[in-house]
Amino acid sequence: DEWASAVAAIRGLPADGTILLVCHVNPDGDALGSMLGFGLGLRRLGRAPLATFPAPYELVPPFDELPGLDLLIDPADAPAAPDLLICFDAASVGRLGELADRLETAGTSVVLDHHASNSRFGDVPIVEPTAAATAVVAEALLTRLGVALDAQIAECLYVALSTDTGSFKFDLTTPSVHELAARLLATGIKPADISRRLFDSRPFGAMKLYGDVLARASLEPAAAGGAGMVWSYATLDDLERHGQRRHVLEGLIDAVRVAEEADVTCVLKQVGAQEWSVSLRSKGAVDVARVAVGLGGGGHRLAAGFTGYGSLTEVVDLVRAAL
Ligand code: 5GP
Ligand code: MN
Ligand code: MN
Repeated sequence: DEWASAVAAIRGLPADGTILLVCHVNPDGDALGSMLGFGLGLRRLGRAPLATFPAPYELVPPFDELPGLDLLIDPADAPAAPDLLICFDAASVGRLGELADRLETAGTSVVLDHHASNSRFGDVPIVEPTAAATAVVAEALLTRLGVALDAQIAECLYVALSTDTGSFKFDLTTPSVHELAARLLATGIKPADISRRLFDSRPFGAMKLYGDVLARASLEPAAAGGAGMVWSYATLDDLERHGQRRHVLEGLIDAVRVAEEADVTCVLKQVGAQEWSVSLRSKGAVDVARVAVGLGGGGHRLAAGFTGYGSLTEVVDLVRAAL
């Protein structure tokens, strides 16, 4: 099967074979954590993998303190034709940006992912839609390779698992997720420190910016056959006014989605004059992945996103119409 093929592809690589690890653009905790954790595991096997992600090549808090950062190289320096390519947490080829061509040039490509919408690209696609995070798939493959977990690998995988499960709160938080968490914690990593860094720590200016965004949120009751929605937005001017950078908006939707009247939450983050990064969340009844895919994006049933072009009103209208 594909697991055996992936093990054979890694084990069969000559000692001097080049291994390139890649993950999706604007990497989140699962993309970086599963990639770096797996990369550290390959090192324990005596390999020297390189890891990267598409432009913009920038590491932002809280991911700038992950173990294994020394695996990372600028995508401009990534080998043009690695012997082995391993791809993490990318639902589609497009999410690999300028690195997508490595799927053609690599000797073999292994794809580790958990998005239901994954098109099963690559030579050896291991796609597990029931997995809470790509980290679950990565750890299972490390186990098959005979790599023992250590604290560095475990911290990477714990960051991945806890981000994609929203601190073990989302619906894919199965007994096996907690069993994996237990194996990771057994290495001695500090869950309280990691969780505070990931979820409960941001600059004072960002807190004030969240205040502005919450104050201007709108609640739209369910129309006939539709879903109630709460939505808000953050502009480039908001960031400027509070002296903040874009990455502080990562947890914004979690502050907005608490409105109990709404089934769907939408947060629009301005990227340019006519460009918005749109995040969608559902409490169950609505499949927001379908909404996002219809608008050129993707994601999971209860958490998805897309890039919207036009004015704020135009982009919100698109979401309303799709709902
Ligand atoms: P977030 O709202 O946290 O940025 O993204 C939630 C989920 O939606 C992500 O895990 C990712 O799967 C998906 N997603 C967000 N933005 C995009 C996008 O622009 N394109 C695609 N294909 N998926 C996205
Ligand atoms: Mn991701
Ligand atoms: Mn993921």
